[in-house]
Amino acid sequence: MRHLLGIEGLRRADIEALLDRAEAHLRGGPDASHVLRGKVVANLFFEDSTRTRTSFEMAAHALGAEVLNWTMAGSSVSKGETLLDTVRNIEATGPVALVIRHRAAGAPHLVARNVGCAVINAGDGTHEHPSQGLLDAFTLRRRWGNLDGRTVVIVGDILHSRVARSNLHCLTALGAKVVLCGPPTLLPPGLESLGAEVSTRLDEVLPRADAVMCLRLQLERQGENFFPSVREFARLYGLNAARAERLKPEALVMHPGPINRGVELAPAVADGSRSVILEQVAHGVAVRRAILEEVCR
Ligand code: ASP
Repeated sequence: MRHLLGIEGLRRADIEALLDRAEAHLRGGPDASHVLRGKVVANLFFEDSTRTRTSFEMAAHALGAEVLNWTMAGSSVSKGETLLDTVRNIEATGPVALVIRHRAAGAPHLVARNVGCAVINAGDGTHEHPSQGLLDAFTLRRRWGNLDGRTVVIVGDILHSRVARSNLHCLTALGAKVVLCGPPTLLPPGLESLGAEVSTRLDEVLPRADAVMCLRLQLERQGENFFPSVREFARLYGLNAARAERLKPEALVMHPGPINRGVELAPAVADGSRSVILEQVAHGVAVRRAILEEVCR
């Protein structure tokens, strides 16, 4: 694998190999601190990030690399420098990999066609967030052993969620059934053809879920009103304590973060015993280590 641009198109065996490698890291497997010694990994974040940027940084350090943390704020983007000029200039400083987040879908793909080093998509617009899909699958696999025959309900702003798209590809490739649930205006057409079941009724699908993944309302990507009010969205699609009661006793609750507490997820559920949200974050480091190792080979 030269780049990691998306989950779509990856085979089950490719995904499992990455997750196996992450598992070995997490179990304290062979010392990997020499793998990228003397190399630089460049984090290029054209959009804000907390978890993804820091965990790629920690993953790179664990492999012995230096990290260049470039952010759009304070850069020459404000002077009109193009995406390709920016990345070609960063590439000229010699990194072994570029980790890119950009608000435009397809930006990492464009970059990958124009640079010689490895490119990792850290989230491109509403398209894909492959490392998140992998770490979510990894979290479920660690809990369940495997995903075959499991049902994962992904609820909320499906339309604007790159996390939903990467998870749909990743979880179905690993044998799970994915139910995408949200208001009709936030469910893009064609999801069934990607293998998903689609529903607008959270209360009907919740009792079947082995895990529920709540998505943030991506208000920054919504140019128009997709629902009457945030309060109504929360009432119909928020995972509150009463709704969580409808879940199977062992069902897990996930969220990619950042959480709009009290909107898509109630604080008591986010911090409750079913929640694996901080496990997802912790696993992000091992999974991103596996990704960096794979594309920098
Ligand atoms: N952190 C995730 C992303 O960058 C989810 C979110 O922002 O809601 O896509």
